[in-house]
Amino acid sequence: MAVCYISIGSNIGNRIENCEKVIREIENFAVLKSVSSIYETEPVGNIDQPYFINCVAEFVTYLTPNGLLVNLQEIENKFGRKRDEIGGPRIIDLDIIFYEDRVIKNDNLTIPHPSAHLRRFVLEPLNEIARELLHPVLKSSVSELLSDLSDEKSVKKIGKFSTSISQ
Ligand code: AMP
Repeated sequence: MAVCYISIGSNIGNRIENCEKVIREIENFAVLKSVSSIYETEPVGNIDQPYFINCVAEFVTYLTPNGLLVNLQEIENKFGRKRDEIGGPRIIDLDIIFYEDRVIKNDNLTIPHPSAHLRRFVLEPLNEIARELLHPVLKSSVSELLSDLSDEKSVKKIGKFSTSISQ
């Protein structure tokens, strides 16, 4: 079984419900170990779009990294994710941040996620559930990455998931 951390985001529709439903879907092929609080975050890149709801969840899975990516993309498609605008609004966005301490770079997949250490909307929730976790390339812990971070986008903790999700 492999431990992986997945970043979940949504800025269309009922954003919190979308994230909850996605966690339930991921549980079809992975065991949920912990999930961060719910964060409302300012968009990065294309700023002319609604604020996101973001969280990070820890799962364990028998899937390989590529198998995990394929399953996550199937969920994105099932939720009606459109890929017409790069960095645009999305009903659901799923990114693999870490998979064990593996370093992977192929046409489909880069792990650790290449911008994870640069994004407050990833590091703040991740720090809540895995502050000591070491970035296998940068060799810094999540809490160190967060304290060195220059991203000043707004990332606000707005609540917790219902206990049926978070326990
Ligand atoms: P996005 O538009 O952010 O959902 O990016 C999706 C694309 O990123 C897909 O084509 C994936 O193959 C690719 N990708 C590369 N590394 C990762 C990763 N660690 N997690 C999720 N998608 C990834």
